[in-house]
Amino acid sequence: MARFAQAEINLSAIRHNYLLAKQLANGARTLATVKANAYGHGAVMVASVLADVADAFSVACIEEAIELRESGIKQPIVLLEGFFSQQELALIDQFALWPVVHHDAQIAQLAEYSFKQPLQVWLKMDSGMHRLGFLPHQYKAAYQRLAQLPQVSRIVHTTHFASADDCNSAVTEQQVALFKQTIKGLAGDCSHANSAAIMRGLVKQNDWARPGIMLYGSSPNAQFSSSTQLQTSMRLCAKVIAQRTIQAGEGVGYNHIFKAERTMRVGTVSMGYADGYPRAAGNQSVSYFNKTYCAILGRVSMDMLSIDLSRFSDLTLPDEPVELWGPHVSVDQVAKAAGTISYELFCGLNRRVKRSYINNPLTESVKRDN
Ligand SMILES: *Cc1c(COP(=O)(O)O)cnc(C)c1O
Repeated sequence: MARFAQAEINLSAIRHNYLLAKQLANGARTLATVKANAYGHGAVMVASVLADVADAFSVACIEEAIELRESGIKQPIVLLEGFFSQQELALIDQFALWPVVHHDAQIAQLAEYSFKQPLQVWLKMDSGMHRLGFLPHQYKAAYQRLAQLPQVSRIVHTTHFASADDCNSAVTEQQVALFKQTIKGLAGDCSHANSAAIMRGLVKQNDWARPGIMLYGSSPNAQFSSSTQLQTSMRLCAKVIAQRTIQAGEGVGYNHIFKAERTMRVGTVSMGYADGYPRAAGNQSVSYFNKTYCAILGRVSMDMLSIDLSRFSDLTLPDEPVELWGPHVSVDQVAKAAGTISYELFCGLNRRVKRSYINNPLTESVKRDN
């Protein structure tokens, strides 16, 4: 059998999470954020399983949008970073995409282009994130320049929160106030909420919500009351490819950062940092194998890691996958052990990890294939 390193993706969980996001957003139009290959889950599969419920999708760049269009996605697609050159306007026109507009040169380029059909654009305000967008004092002028262009049919006001995941921070309320005050009297719908803001109930019925991470079953903050309603979307698995017994005082893996205090049984698992399992979680996290939590021992290598199998007394192990994250070991727990966030772990999965899909509500093929 081939090397086993697999991300099993539960499509009905993603669909459940989307519908939950829409409900928490008070039924507002909700675009599913599928940038970065749907946070590693496979953008085409995720979009196709949401195609009959999602109001729209969002991606970071035009290549990601075209991939969705070519797979048959008909919904609006928002380009979260807009367009990077005037050449992209032909593709925006051809594929009917909705670009974010966040700086002056983009407005000038739009004004010079003749589109087949007028365009919906999302005008971005920098209300405090200080990453993209017009500052509040520049915003109204940018809006007026856009609004008078025959190329533009509608404008959605948009901004992004810096600290929506942090309930102790006053920054989100300040950003909302600045955003609302700046767009007062300007025609157009609003979009400000990422997953954290949706889970905090900040979305009004007429807004556009933009959930990302919550679609993939991870909460930006475990304290949010709806966290427990999210369903796990991914189970990252590998297999035990070798095992041995080591004696007290012996080390495991590079630099022997783990040393046995007693006789132990150690399993070598076909998953390493080249697959996307974080090296920083070495010695800090657990795996789940045959109904048993097994500690990760020592450093994570490029292609392998070691786990504690001391609780298995039989010499022959069951041919079960080892869960590195999933329903039993939460991705947030692994991320915390590695000093990062679930977003980075999901996006960091290498293409060497095979994606397999279960519970596709469209085909009803509810099966587990390992
Ligand atoms: C990625 C992204 C989102 C989604 O954020 P989550 O925290 O994953 O919900 C929303 N809006 C913008 C502008 C983004 O870049």
